[in-house]
Amino acid sequence: MSSTAATVLPVDESPEHETQRDAARTTMINGLLQRGFPLMVFPGELEREFRQAGLAAKRAHILKSGYISLLIFNVFLVADYLMLPDVFMQALTLRLLVFTPLALLFLWMFQTAKTGALATVSSMGLELIAMVSGLAAALMLAYILASSQSPLAYLYHIGFMVVITYGTIVQRLRFWNAVVFSLLLIALHVWGVYTLPSFPERMVLPLVSMVLASAAFTLTANYALENDERRRFLLTERERGLIRSLTQTQVRLRELSRVDELTGLYNRRHFESSVQQLWQRASFGGTPMAILMIDVDHFKKFNDHYGHPAGDACLRQVCQVLKQTLNGQGVIVARYGGEEFIAAIPNLDEAAALNLAEQVRASVERCQIPHDRSATSSVVTASLGLAWCQARPGMKVEHLLALADGALYDAKHQGRNRVCSQSA
Ligand code: GH3
Ligand code: MG
Ligand code: MG
Repeated sequence: MSSTAATVLPVDESPEHETQRDAARTTMINGLLQRGFPLMVFPGELEREFRQAGLAAKRAHILKSGYISLLIFNVFLVADYLMLPDVFMQALTLRLLVFTPLALLFLWMFQTAKTGALATVSSMGLELIAMVSGLAAALMLAYILASSQSPLAYLYHIGFMVVITYGTIVQRLRFWNAVVFSLLLIALHVWGVYTLPSFPERMVLPLVSMVLASAAFTLTANYALENDERRRFLLTERERGLIRSLTQTQVRLRELSRVDELTGLYNRRHFESSVQQLWQRASFGGTPMAILMIDVDHFKKFNDHYGHPAGDACLRQVCQVLKQTLNGQGVIVARYGGEEFIAAIPNLDEAAALNLAEQVRASVERCQIPHDRSATSSVVTASLGLAWCQARPGMKVEHLLALADGALYDAKHQGRNRVCSQSA
């Protein structure tokens, strides 16, 4: 690949395209912030980004709350002992010897996974983990309740409320998953109510309605929490978009402040600051440095005769010549004033610098831009002043600039369309 090709941006990532995409995104975000998102879903890509953005935090949360929930799950052994003494040994076995070791093993693998499926669980995968852990606890509860003959067993149905709270509030399942999770638990509860022989009939309505009410309340809270989380995400994204567009504008303004509009070359201000850096490097290394001043001959007459727009076109053509000829490593070319250009050329010996200046002069002449009013030639020409030195500490670049100016003055006075040089 050529170096030019390497610097060309792919069409999709051109700054204009990026700006348009950013603007469309900001409009969409503003719309969502204004209208809201009652169905708890963003359009297309934004939804994917939202889920991706919260992934690491969600993973950490599942781990932390997993350990805490497991501890609380086992504290319920006290309730098992007091309410279901006939199946206490079963409950003990299931809780301590089956559920807890499996859950601990999973949490440990999940925590330490560096590669593989457990290390790269998607957002939906995390939701499934939370749902399955809750459902497993609920199934275990249902199994113990179904096995017990205790007259207090029906009261233990409020345990389903605890599991619903675990899924909707502790694990904070995405709203629609929380709805599915709650419905599954309600179904399990209702199934238990109708299959448990010892369930007193007059307790059915109070208990079912308590479980339903707790599902409704926790789902309402879950909805509000997700709404806040989504809104925060939109605000952060909007802020990011604003910062990105501000940065782009800043870069563009900085570029504009150092580039000459007509020719696209650097302007005098930029030249004067960057030549100092170039000079510092040269004087530190004791390497050669040349300053070349280029002034179009009889340009006022060109303008007067051909008009200002033609003058502009001529300057652009001269600038093309400069860009092509002065394209060496580290060279800075700038428009110094009206029809005057300047170049700082590092690392060329005096003969090579003189040769390069002569090439510039000849190239301008070779453009063959007619100039009927020139006293020097029938075409546009330029005079050049070259100053060369071996850079050294203690010497100032201003001195070299003054020498180049003097050399240009000489070239004008010796008849124009020529290179004069001075060295220091
Ligand atoms: P010399 O050979 O001694 O350099 O004479 P000159 O006419 O080239 O020099 P002078 O300084 O008298 O005139 C420079 C002219 O350049 C004056 C101005 O009208 C013209 N000029 C400066 N900037 C621009 C520009 O951006 N566009 C155009 N078209 N002309 C410009
Ligand atoms: Mg001139
Ligand atoms: Mg001039």
